[in-house]
Amino acid sequence: MNGKANMLLQADPSHITYTENLQKFLRLPQGGKIIAEYIWVDSEGGVRSKSRTLDAKDTDYTPAELPMWNFDGSSTGQAPGENSDIYLQPVAVFPDPFRGTPNILVLAECLNNDGTPNKYNHRHECAKLMEAHAEHKPWFGLEQEYTLLDLNDRPYGWPKNGYPAPQGPYYCGVGAGKVVMRDIVEAHYKCCLYAGVKISGTNAEVMPAQWEYQVGPCEGIEMGDHLWLSRFLLHRVAEEFGAKVSFDPKPIPGDWNGAGLHSNFSTKEMREEGGMKHIEAAIKKLESRHAEHIAVYGEGNEKRLTGRHETGSIDTFSYGVANRGASIRIPRECAAKGYGYFEDRRPASNADPYQITGIIMETCFGAVSE
Ligand code: ADP
Ligand code: MN
Ligand code: MN
Ligand code: MN
Repeated sequence: MNGKANMLLQADPSHITYTENLQKFLRLPQGGKIIAEYIWVDSEGGVRSKSRTLDAKDTDYTPAELPMWNFDGSSTGQAPGENSDIYLQPVAVFPDPFRGTPNILVLAECLNNDGTPNKYNHRHECAKLMEAHAEHKPWFGLEQEYTLLDLNDRPYGWPKNGYPAPQGPYYCGVGAGKVVMRDIVEAHYKCCLYAGVKISGTNAEVMPAQWEYQVGPCEGIEMGDHLWLSRFLLHRVAEEFGAKVSFDPKPIPGDWNGAGLHSNFSTKEMREEGGMKHIEAAIKKLESRHAEHIAVYGEGNEKRLTGRHETGSIDTFSYGVANRGASIRIPRECAAKGYGYFEDRRPASNADPYQITGIIMETCFGAVSE
């Protein structure tokens, strides 16, 4: 498929992990300690994590109460070897669905050793924009599409030599031959709910082995935090099932749908009676900065935004009511009511939600000065 070598080849995919055996150990008491899994975004749009022991507390840990930590940035492409320490600054805490409460997942920002944000830390800038324009109460809802691959990088369940029947029966499909690996989707959904991630739904997608889930509405910086955590949970769940998660925006060339990260957006003003004029004003602003948005809307997005397969063309900005071939879609229901939200359909599945939500704020309400 994409020619990338497997990092770890496993001879027998039915014995990837032994989660059922693990259950009896997970139930053991922890001697007054908890395990905190620190999670961060790496240089390739993936997530990394490592764990440490902390004292148990009567109340929940807040980010400010959690220790800073560090890792070797030269091993993740985030720092040079001669100056390799990257600091992990806790920013959000979630209950851990794998180890169970009281254990926690800790989302962390990466800082260089002089305290400046690491090159791949897009949260820092996003948080400033969200704070500066907080009075607009920006809500986001992101639709994360992804493809499940086997360990040979072939979409799960696809015939060894050849292709499945053309698209049509797979979107929101039910039944054998239409969907694969629903177990992963269900397990991920439960994990998100347990962790308090604001997952709002899920569906099978147009291309077989492709799925979607939605997170939101989330206000401000919470959108990026929850989406990154949901990605961590998905990779982690799929690991136990011996499947890979691909966020490639066009995993299979040809007549197969790509994968996006449709970004729904509204402000307080847009959600109120007469909000359509605020929606239209925002769309005008987005139009004037199309190229700047595309620049941060994901790698390889030109293969997806062809103007076919329910996308607008990458070169031209367009919008319309209920139009899934446009850059921006105003949902029919919102147009009818005269207020609500709009959908930016341009972001690719591998885009960084901090960059997407950040630039939407910057374009609509202005940059923040240092
Ligand atoms: P689609 O019809 O494009 O497939 P989905 O139902 O998959 O839409 O996703 C719609 C997303 O829009 C959800 O994540 C939802 O939380 C979000 N959403 C709904 N209302 C608003 C709003 N007022 N502002 C921002 N996002 C919203
Ligand atoms: Mn959707
Ligand atoms: Mn979709
Ligand atoms: Mn959509």
